[in-house]
This record gives sequence, C-alpha cells and structure tokens, in this order.
Amino acid sequence: MSDVILEVRNLVKYFPVKAGILQRTIATVKAVDGVSFQIKRGETFGLVGESGCGKTTTGRCILRLEEPTSGEIIFKGIEITKLNQKQLKKLRPKMQIVFQDPFSSLNPRLPVKEIVGEAMVYHGLVKGKEAEKKVKELLEMVGLSAEHMYRYPHEFSGGQRQRICIARALSTQPDLIVCDEAVSALDVSIQSQILKLLENLQAKLGVAYLFISHALNVVKYISHRIGVMYLGKIVEVAESEELYLNPLHPYTKALISAVPVPDPKVKRQKIILKGDVPSPLNPPKGCRFVTRCPQAMSICAEIEPQMLEVSSNHSVACHLFQKQL
Ligand code: SF4
Repeated sequence: MSDVILEVRNLVKYFPVKAGILQRTIATVKAVDGVSFQIKRGETFGLVGESGCGKTTTGRCILRLEEPTSGEIIFKGIEITKLNQKQLKKLRPKMQIVFQDPFSSLNPRLPVKEIVGEAMVYHGLVKGKEAEKKVKELLEMVGLSAEHMYRYPHEFSGGQRQRICIARALSTQPDLIVCDEAVSALDVSIQSQILKLLENLQAKLGVAYLFISHALNVVKYISHRIGVMYLGKIVEVAESEELYLNPLHPYTKALISAVPVPDPKVKRQKIILKGDVPSPLNPPKGCRFVTRCPQAMSICAEIEPQMLEVSSNHSVACHLFQKQL
C-alpha cells in the first residue's frame, strides 16, 4: 500500500460574487488556485500563510465541507471529489477536523459524553454501553478523565475544550485530521501542551495531520514538512527544518524574519513587507507576490513562476530560481 494518505492535485476553489435582483455573477474570488501537495501516513504537513491566503478553504475542500471548483483529492487511493454524499459517508470517519474555536465548535447543550460519542454511534462503530467505555478511553487519551463525561462545555477551560474536540476527532479512528488554527485561540503555555498532545497521539496512533496556521513558529514546531501559501497558491514546500534554515521564496523569508528569536543575543533582521495582500478578486497576472516583493523583476509581473524542485524535498515557485536552473 502506498505511503501517501492524501494527494491534492491542482485544487481550485472559486467563489462567485453575485449582485442585483437576478443574482448575476459579477466577479470571482479565487480563494484557492491550483494547490498541490501530498501527506504521508503519520506525517504532519503544515500549511502556513497570512489570513485570507486560502489555507482554510483548502482544508475545507479536502473534507468536502466546500465543493472544489476543480482538481483532484485522492484520499487512501480514492478520488473523493466525485463521490456522492452516500459514498462520502463511508469515508467521513477516516477524515476529521479540529477547529480554531473550541467553544463554538462544541454544542453547549450536550454533555461531553454525547459530544465525544455521537460520531461513533452515528457511524455504527459502537453499540450500547460500548460507547461510554470508549468515550472514557478517549478522554483519558487526551488528558481528561471519566468524571468529565457528564459535564458541559462551559465548565471547561479553553485548553480542556480543545482536548474534548481532539477526543471527538479521534473517536472514529481517523487516518487524517485537519487541524485548522487548532491552537491559535489558546494562551501560549496551553498551545504548547496541545501541540505536545497532538504529537504524542500521532506517535501512538499513526494519524496524519494537515496543520493549518498563520503562525510559522507553531507550524514549524509540529510539522514534518511545510507548504507556504500566498494568495491562493503554494509558493514553497520543504521539510520543516530546511524551510526554516534555508528559506528561498522572498515571502517565506519575510515570514521567518517576523518570528521572534528566543535568544536575546541573536539578532534577526526583520523584513517589512510594504502594502497589503492584493484582493483574490483580482490577483496580479504574473507572480502573485509581485506587488510586495523586495526582489521583484520585470518578468515577475508578466509570467507566473512554476513550482520547481531545487533540491530533494525543497520546491519553490519564484523566477529568482527559475533563472538559475
Ligand atoms: Fe519576487 Fe519575482 Fe520571485 Fe515573485 S517571482 S517572489 S515577484 S522575485
């Protein structure tokens, strides 16, 4: 069996902008515009970029919470973009999501026992008393205890609520969990506890994560490989350490320069990007970073750079490197 659990090929998601009485399409938001990557079994692939770059939409398309405009999503060897809802239901337990806000993603009217157990029951994975036993096991696995089963979400702290969300995601024994800004709403000390928990669970269960975040230091900590997204496209992919030590794309360099260094003796020159991210309604014609890139050349405004492998496990889409090859 292939080592690859998920393959995304040229994923595109456009949102029409409608107006008028007839609701005519007057523009198109190009939220995701040709994204490709793979995730192996038990691997964490981080997707990082500023808010609005399309990383959350990519995650939602992979789970078919949004319908892709085009492209292929191959999960465990099955192309899922063409599956109907009935076919998709069989695969659903194997792909789960943990959202950013652990409070709004938990039903306040249900006790933890039902929140964690309902997917297992819905998919027919457990029967009767078995569900309670399984919920207890899951809660212990995420650092909570059996007594928490009968409490309601408002009785927990933010970190504990995120542990409940993780227990719920694990309840169906998934092969892939999309963690969408899963620690962004938490305090820094709690963030590291949840990241450690995710790591330990991965080592134990072999689950793969698509870890989506705007914070490069968080993504670097947990990911084996990282894809950097800008305005609907992946502009650089590399192993985590390699990306951090040897960033090639000017946008990645700017992102890394903004990460605080914990050692006061080490001084890093911050690259300040001028201007805002262009609108995904009307992205630049050539390289999408051209309006903010400190190294832009004339070719950049005209021709879109293609993704090229510059060394094993390190690819970049930038004319600076295409010129050299
Ligand atoms: Fe900058 Fe040009 Fe590279 Fe785009 S292609 S990142 S504008 S140098």
